[in-house]
Formats: sequence, C-alpha cells, structure tokens
Amino acid sequence: MSQVFYIKEDKNELNFKEIPEKLFEKFGNLFDKNDKTAIKMHFGERKSNTHLSPSLVEPIYDKINQNTKKTSLMDCNVLYRGDRSIGSTHKKLAKENGFKFGNIVIADGEKGEDEISIEINQKNFDKVKVGRKLKNYNFLFSLAHLTGHEAAGYGGALKNVGMGLGSKSGKLEMHEAFNLEVERDECQACGTCIRECPEKAIRYVEGKANIDKEKCIGCGICIAVCPFEAIQIPWGDSSPRKLQERIVETAYGILQNKEKSLFMNVLYDITPECDCVNQEQECIVEDKGILISDDIVSIDQASLDLIGLKNFPEDIDSEVQVTYAEKLGMGERDYELKEI
Ligand code: SF4
Ligand code: SF4
Repeated sequence: MSQVFYIKEDKNELNFKEIPEKLFEKFGNLFDKNDKTAIKMHFGERKSNTHLSPSLVEPIYDKINQNTKKTSLMDCNVLYRGDRSIGSTHKKLAKENGFKFGNIVIADGEKGEDEISIEINQKNFDKVKVGRKLKNYNFLFSLAHLTGHEAAGYGGALKNVGMGLGSKSGKLEMHEAFNLEVERDECQACGTCIRECPEKAIRYVEGKANIDKEKCIGCGICIAVCPFEAIQIPWGDSSPRKLQERIVETAYGILQNKEKSLFMNVLYDITPECDCVNQEQECIVEDKGILISDDIVSIDQASLDLIGLKNFPEDIDSEVQVTYAEKLGMGERDYELKEI
C-alpha cells in the first residue's frame, strides 16, 4: 500500500517555506546532486485568480534547485489560441503571473512543434507525443493544482503530467480532434496559416483557407497562428472515458521514460474548471491542504476522497483516470494517508 503524506493546514496559516522542508523530510533521499529536475506545473491564465501561487511554488523550486544539478519550471503549449499557445508569450505570461524566479521551459518549443514520440502499445495509443525538452531531465516533479474539468472529470497529477506534457499534436490526439476546420466566415485570407503549416496542407479554396485532411498531421500550429481564430478545434469528438484513458496513457509513457518521479497535489482554491479558463472562478469545495506521494494513482485517489466529489461535473465518472492508471500498473488506489 502506498503512502500519501498530508499537510492539513489552511493556506492562510501555513508558512509556505515549511512545504519543501516537509517534502525533503519524507523524500529528500530521492534527490541527488546530479539530478536534472523538471517541475511540471500550470502558470495560470491571464485572468485566472486561483492558479498556483508563486509564493507557494518559489520555496519548493529553491529547495529542489539547491539539492540538484539543474531545476526548471515546465509546461507545454496549449491548443486554444492565446498567450499560452506560443512558447515566448507563454513564458512572458508566467512571469506576469508572478513566476519571476527560476528557469521556465516550454517543453514543446515556440509553436508546439518540438516533440518526441514514446512507444507504449496500449489500448488507445501505440505511441504518445510529448514535449521534447522533457527528455533533458531525469526527474519529473509534478506540482498540480487540483481542479474540476468539464471533460476529464477532474485534474490532478495524472492530468498535469499526461495532458500537460503532451505536445500540441499529442493534445489533439488525446481529444481525438483530428478534423480541424477553417470557419470560412471568420477567415480573412491573411495567408499566415498557409505559410506556417509544416505539411503544406492548407491552400485557398474559393478565396478562403482550406485544410487538406489527407495531408494534415494534426500539429495544431495553424490554430495558434491564425490571428482571427478562424481555425476551430473539434473538442467534442472524444468521449470523457476515452479522453481520460488517453490522458492516462500519455502519463504512462512519460513516467516509463523517467528515472525518478514525485507528485504534489495542491488542494487549495478548488474550482469547477481547470486553470486554462481565462476568467475568475468561484471555489466549489473548501481548501483541504497539500498531498505528497511517490505514487501518482494514490495521490489522485486520495485527492478525490478528500474532496468528497467523485464526479465533477456530475455526469463524468472521475475515477476512470485512477482505475485505468492502476490497471496499467502505474500505482495503487489503496493508500495510507499520513499527516505531516
Ligand atoms: S494542424 Fe494540419 S493544417 Fe494545421 S498547421 Fe498542422 S499540419 Fe497544417
Ligand atoms: S491564418 Fe486564419 S485568417 Fe489567415 S488565412 Fe489562415 S484561416 Fe484564414
């Protein structure tokens, strides 16, 4: 049975400098002077008010950085158009949101094109596509803010790693969003997507951009570069169960490739939607504290148990992620919760 360590303190009373001390009290022996550690996290959207606090992250970053060779704060680009869909503006927004310390790495490059494939041969995917720069780190430290999610049920460590480190192409595949379409009414025929498409899959048809589905490899670059948001992501193609399984398979591929991994879930400011929502959100559950474990399944199961909501939203079974991850041998749903 895996252990999940629980810092059960109100965020207004917790001295955030105690978090890395407690982390190292339990897992300090995992860190080595030669480690290169990627701290996978979400830097928040421009208007989000509930993403991870820089003052919570900074002491964790400092402590890990002092005890390893190299430490970076890492994320990958998102699919939807915005600051976080391009590497340089993603980093700029992270700094504007208060993450002014440390080395920030966007693992799939400027436009999300910098990816590697990892062979997994599982039910949904033979291989998964993730940000290439992750390859430069032997230690993955997942620092997840627990939230709800309209399609995946909830977002914890599995989603932070699986969806979060997927390249744009990997994210499109997780969503089964293969049939990108240009909204003809929105297209201003500026030619940007035609110039940027690496597969030359876009050309004008009757004066508007048109995607040749035979040539398109689903890299997602055109979505990010279109200044008029004319290229739409067909989000609805994947069922919630399939989406969750695909997220888990991507996390599986990533963790198979890492020498070391450790997980921290922050159960503060728990909102119905994830931090990609570019607006302020109301919290739906009271703050619970912080969990730490070396078992990605146990930490997410413990998070769901503490929240007491198995389904948020109600029509999605949130336990698909943990059940499927356990089936793949990624960890155990049985755990022992220990307050520290
Ligand atoms: S998603 Fe398809 S059409 Fe768009 S840039 Fe990539 S290859 Fe070209
Ligand atoms: S970038 Fe957008 S507006 Fe410009 S041609 Fe392509 S689809 Fe049309």
